Amino acid sequence: MQKKYYTVLVAALMMLTGSAQHPLKHWTDAIEIRYDSRQPVINYFLTVDSSNFSSFEVTMQIRNIPDTFYIGMVAHPEYDDRYWRYVTDLSVETKKGGGKIVREDSAKWKITGNGGIASLHYKINLPSTGDAIRSSWKAYLTPTGGLVGGPHSFMYIIGAPLAPSSISLKIPEGWQIVTGLQSTSDPNTFFASSTWVLIDDPIFVGKVKNWSFKVDGIPHRVTYWSLPDAKTFDTAALLSSIQKLVEQAAFLFGRLPYREFSFMLQDGASGALEHNNSVTVGAPSAQLANNVNSILSEITHEYFHTWNLVRIHTAEYEDVSYKTPPLSKGLWWSEGLTIFYTDLLMRRAGLPVFDSSRLNHLETLIRRYSSTPAYLKFSAEKISMASYAPAGFLGDYSASTHLQGEVLGALLDLMIRDATNGKRSIDDVMRIMMERFSGPKGFTSKDIEQIITGICGNNVHQFFQNHVYGNKQIDFNKYLKLIGLEHQLEWKEALSNDNKPVPDLRIFPYQLPGENITRIGITNPLSCWGRAGLHTGDIIKSVNGKSIASASDFRPLIRNAQRGDTILMEIERPAGVSKISIVVSGYQQAVAHLTQIAASTEKQKRLYEQWLSAK
Ligand SMILES: [Zn+2]
Repeated sequence: MQKKYYTVLVAALMMLTGSAQHPLKHWTDAIEIRYDSRQPVINYFLTVDSSNFSSFEVTMQIRNIPDTFYIGMVAHPEYDDRYWRYVTDLSVETKKGGGKIVREDSAKWKITGNGGIASLHYKINLPSTGDAIRSSWKAYLTPTGGLVGGPHSFMYIIGAPLAPSSISLKIPEGWQIVTGLQSTSDPNTFFASSTWVLIDDPIFVGKVKNWSFKVDGIPHRVTYWSLPDAKTFDTAALLSSIQKLVEQAAFLFGRLPYREFSFMLQDGASGALEHNNSVTVGAPSAQLANNVNSILSEITHEYFHTWNLVRIHTAEYEDVSYKTPPLSKGLWWSEGLTIFYTDLLMRRAGLPVFDSSRLNHLETLIRRYSSTPAYLKFSAEKISMASYAPAGFLGDYSASTHLQGEVLGALLDLMIRDATNGKRSIDDVMRIMMERFSGPKGFTSKDIEQIITGICGNNVHQFFQNHVYGNKQIDFNKYLKLIGLEHQLEWKEALSNDNKPVPDLRIFPYQLPGENITRIGITNPLSCWGRAGLHTGDIIKSVNGKSIASASDFRPLIRNAQRGDTILMEIERPAGVSKISIVVSGYQQAVAHLTQIAASTEKQKRLYEQWLSAK
């Protein structure tokens, strides 16, 4: 999802005998202790106190533990919320009394006891979101419910990825529990077969409404937590739409890879995150009352990640770790093809989509892609890496791996349709990816190239060489022609929704972790800001004489700029402080026109009709 979709990562789960097993990959944590033969066993107790919703408490009762061991808090590869900042009152009891705790790193603690057993206790003091809308995947508590579990709640034993655990919840009376964790005969106790399973599955608690349906005999639950002043909306319509999406995914892959699935929808929140067998989705009731379909694309995107990202995972995303994982070269596939299928599954399910037709959708993609020079400068793998890299990774450019991946997926689909005379499509690639990469092994772009080569019978190496590993300009007409289409590109003044020329505001402020200074980011070197001599990474001292202490000081000064305004910026670089004057201009955007070639062959026409109908 557009960066507001937060994606999980990691690993793959195999469904064996109905329970999730974690396919062990590599030892991601280079640690001092490896539990090769005897894994620790942990009983977690999480308590929500009805007299205090600003924190919750966790006890870890651990067995099979040596004298010295390490605990950590998992860094999510895509959104590391660093909840280790909110841990307080950490204590340890061992069989001979209190043990010793040394914090060795921000998210890593060394515990020394007497071996055998240990009981750890800590509190998570929940941060306030202030006026900002809450992100749907973050832990929160209110008098009527909240979200706990996952990397925001549970410490883990470093080096013991196969440690099984039970999770017992003590919650206020009248609250329900909704989670993808495996249930037990005790309604308040759940089971996680590995650290990955424990950390991946959020736990929704509170006074919630539940609806359910089955697809292929598999139960699906839709849960809604509402604010006290919630508006009513058409829940039957929402439920029916979600069921149609599930049916389309089951049809595409031929099976559902989980024992049950929970859609956890939350009032008063935004953003969404996928998990092994659940999604957390911000779903404000006022927005749903206005248009109940407005969150369907977000739900579809996260739900599709259940396959493409959680199970079919990139080679760089391995097991859980308290350290941030390496940047991934494969997100063009994980995000780009997921957004490709968001549009496609919604069309196949007969749900309302943003663009009126696939032709219109492709036109929009080509327009957005062509308007951004970063795609001519950086390969898809490099832009994948930029997705979760620090701001400024691409210098004076910015780009979306979601958009680039969707464009590449759309063109590969056309190549496969042409090479197989309409018998195969990118659907076949996705199914093979699921069979080959839902286990311990993650994929690389080379693997995708080999699968497509196998399906097409043609070598697609040049395409990958040019556009995935390299940064050659795409000749769109070469691929559009395969289904009898051609396009023309025009450059036009960028306009507002009411057709007025808009000012070029393609500049943004940012702060790097650990820095107290505000820097600027340029998204296009040909913007009025880039042409005036500004560069990504410049430190902003003042704008029009007003000193800048934070990003929020900068935004209003720029947001209200008009075409023709002159802005004086004082910036600092290693060479010193200088003043730069910028005249705010308008800017040009690409417009794509797709048309059918008049002299299309019968094959081109047939492939076009098949493609257009989302088959
Ligand atoms: Zn995503």
